[in-house]
Amino acid sequence: MRPTKAVIDLDALRHNFKTVQQKASGSRVIAVVKADAYGHGLAQIAKALPDAEMFAVATPLEAYTLRDAGIEQPILLLEGFFEEKELPRIVENDLHLVVHHSPQIDALKRLKTDKKLNIWLKIDSGMNRLGFKVDELPQIENDLAEVECINKPVRLMSHFASADDVEDPFTSKQIQTFLESTEHLVVERSMANSAGILEAKSAHFDWVRPGLILYGCSPMIDSIGADYGLKPVMNLESQIMAIKHLKKGESTGYGRHWFAERDTVIALVAIGYGDGYPRNAENGTPVWVNGRTVPLVGRVSMDMLAVELGPEHSEKIGDRVVLWGKELPAEIVAKHAGTIPYTLSCGVTGRVHFVYR
Ligand code: PLP
Repeated sequence: MRPTKAVIDLDALRHNFKTVQQKASGSRVIAVVKADAYGHGLAQIAKALPDAEMFAVATPLEAYTLRDAGIEQPILLLEGFFEEKELPRIVENDLHLVVHHSPQIDALKRLKTDKKLNIWLKIDSGMNRLGFKVDELPQIENDLAEVECINKPVRLMSHFASADDVEDPFTSKQIQTFLESTEHLVVERSMANSAGILEAKSAHFDWVRPGLILYGCSPMIDSIGADYGLKPVMNLESQIMAIKHLKKGESTGYGRHWFAERDTVIALVAIGYGDGYPRNAENGTPVWVNGRTVPLVGRVSMDMLAVELGPEHSEKIGDRVVLWGKELPAEIVAKHAGTIPYTLSCGVTGRVHFVYR
């Protein structure tokens, strides 16, 4: 079998979950497992978190996958719903709905059901993505009073635009907007994502919604998960598949994107963008090879990439290579690829063999 695999460390996941519980000790935890649990495997991750009081996904299909896997906790649908005809199945599966625009409320008014739905009203506190603007709230409250099929009072939520940057005063402004616009309501609130949990304690409220930190990465600019006591969950690994001697001035790979500055030795590693390794990782991106970090050289191909071992090397074909994980933080690799750690784990493709430990 090809040695390219994602080893998912479920103990690390549980450690990170406990870390969230400690950091937000007054709050209940909604574990965000959308996008296949950020590429880690939806059902496997949810099953490994029995203490999560709720899960959050983006789409109904993700929620049904969790139900099919036997997950019984409440599941929050962060996108709400698109089609009215989906509502009976949503009710049947006992999903919590984020309501963020008026046509959803109209659809709920028309819904005939014996079972009451739980909804979360999304307030736009400044991100200008989903949610009702503050000046719309009085009208929305009136509209919701006419909806019979929902449990009342409804819960409130909002989302941060730039909580990953501790220097940005906009986070405090959003917290203030969220609180001031809803202070007349005695209801449960949720605002903090991973960054909010780590650095905006005043926004922990009743429920926190961690995603990235559960998987062991830091959302904060210029930091890694270990800075916050987190452990990487995904370890993306492969092996050296070939070793090649290059003369000074020779290149490797498509486009001749890198030239040897000396007589040197490179290794070809069995992983490429077809597996989810970012193609735009630059020359010099660190790659862990059998105990040391060496630079990526040349363009990443679909099935392989090259690293420079240097003229004095002891590595051989079959040696273990780590692209990100315990030995090499995904945050650092992401920076070299001009992206964020979220896209790295989400991008690992179906060709990679997943191993759960
Ligand atoms: N809450 C909402 C509404 C989200 O969209 C997300 C993710 O994008 C999260 C929480 C979790 O964010 P993070 O992974 O930064 O913790």
